[in-house]
Amino acid sequence: MKHSKIKVAFFDTKPYDRKFFEAANQDAKYGFDIRFYETRLTPASAAIAEDAQVVCAFVNDDISAETVRKLHENGVKLIAMRCAGYNNVNLSAALDKIRVVRVPEYSPYAVAEYTMGLLLTLNRNLHRAYCRVRENNFSINGFLGFDLHGKTVGVVGTGKIGLTFAEILQGFGVRILAYDLYPKKEQAERLRMEYVSLEELFRQSDVISLHCPLTPENRHMINKKSIALMKPGVFLLNTSRGALIDAPALIKGLKKKKIGGAGLDVYEEETDYFFEDRSDAAIDDDVLARLLTFPNVIVTSHQAFFTREAETNIAETTLSNIRDFFRGKELVNEICYHCDGKRSCPGKHNGTSCRRK
Ligand code: NAD
Repeated sequence: MKHSKIKVAFFDTKPYDRKFFEAANQDAKYGFDIRFYETRLTPASAAIAEDAQVVCAFVNDDISAETVRKLHENGVKLIAMRCAGYNNVNLSAALDKIRVVRVPEYSPYAVAEYTMGLLLTLNRNLHRAYCRVRENNFSINGFLGFDLHGKTVGVVGTGKIGLTFAEILQGFGVRILAYDLYPKKEQAERLRMEYVSLEELFRQSDVISLHCPLTPENRHMINKKSIALMKPGVFLLNTSRGALIDAPALIKGLKKKKIGGAGLDVYEEETDYFFEDRSDAAIDDDVLARLLTFPNVIVTSHQAFFTREAETNIAETTLSNIRDFFRGKELVNEICYHCDGKRSCPGKHNGTSCRRK
């Protein structure tokens, strides 16, 4: 099939998506017929993709079993996620119907650098200082921070982003603790990073930063029980996925001053708010509204990935994933239902071949 005949329905489009995807699609090796839609992908909006062979979706699209069923009925062959995380895709519904690809790596620097930005802003109150000085208030009362030097930082999830964050931490003279289901011994030695149990990481860390994917097993890993284990005044950073944190438990921890500060680029119920301008209405979500009242909480709108380099890489990898699919090539970025996207997929699962192999 000629690329210009391949229709791609692009959901949840923002002007910046168009800019980077249109630029990448100019390349002769692509030239797909891309239709940009502002609406999110949901069971109700799936019909928009009626004549498309490919659907391109993002972090807050609803790719539930119902959506997958409708896309399949309409003849969609490929779901191209333009992000790394895929917790919003019902992979079992897609199995043997629609193949699913993603962009596993586009810039770990973008997210890791942003995480460090959140930590420094939160600790030294830059967000408040900026506003105060603009009001001609030059007082520094309430802005007392702490030296990061000599403190203990716990990194949960030492994949691409977690390790890049650990690299950045090298310049700060901190002790690094780490937790991962699959510890990386060599990297740990190189980065002077010590793997400990999750419980030990919670007990010993002054700062805890989450860099693992969201799975059914680790949903609400930060909860009343785990917060009880933590040091008084601990800082929590989450640039991964909102549902790793039980937000009402976090609020209780903040109210009791057990949590010293939280830097959140993601929020469990972000779908209705993040990426949108909601400035002309009150916030219906009482948990989000409460979080926004704390001076020691910074909430940003899932923007850690948002750099020129990351956007360029996302567009390029997404289009090459689509091209490879139509050329019948091996889909190196396919999310395999069986091995859940791990590169180390053995190729066989209970006698079933992995489709990525
Ligand atoms: P990665 O796959 O390279 O690394 C994830 C690591 O987490 C792996 O080492 C894995 O073994 C580990 N892990 C899996 N389950 C775990 C668990 N229950 N406990 C501890 N560790 C566990 O992924 P990455 O590129 O480093 O990205 C990490 C996450 O960051 C993504 O899953 C995504 O949710 C999030 N992310 C957010 C943004 C943003 O803009 N805020 C952008 C990109 C990625």
